Amino acid sequence: MLKDDCIFCKIIKGEIPSQKVYEDGKMLVFKDIEPKAKVHLLAVAKTHFKLLSEMNGGDAELLKYMLCKIPGIAAENGCNNGYRLIINQGADAGQTVFHLHIHILGGETLPW
Ligand code: 5GP
Ligand code: ZN
Repeated sequence: MLKDDCIFCKIIKGEIPSQKVYEDGKMLVFKDIEPKAKVHLLAVAKTHFKLLSEMNGGDAELLKYMLCKIPGIAAENGCNNGYRLIINQGADAGQTVFHLHIHILGGETLPW
């Protein structure tokens, strides 16, 4: 289910343009508009979950699916020497878009 007032749902629907690097029936991966590393991708499920903490065991199958796809997508996009995955959960983590997403950061040696 997608949500009308969510930026990432709009990107999934094609209502907001994005630089897509991978798409299938369950997930979309696109370039972050304000990259924090040489390679900065965002992986989103094609279902609106606000927060990691909203997911139940069944929903988590979708996360598992995404985590299994990410290594290949990262390698194809310049992260051949490693990468970092980040999920920001809530305000203290600095989450600004409330559609669950996985940051993929790499393409260079990352400072911690
Ligand atoms: P958060 O802080 O919620 O974990 O990360 C949200 C990310 O989404 C940020 O890194 C921000 O740069 C990115 N972002 C916000 N709006 C857009 C947009 O319209 N397009 C793209 N491609 N990225 C966006
Ligand atoms: Zn959404």
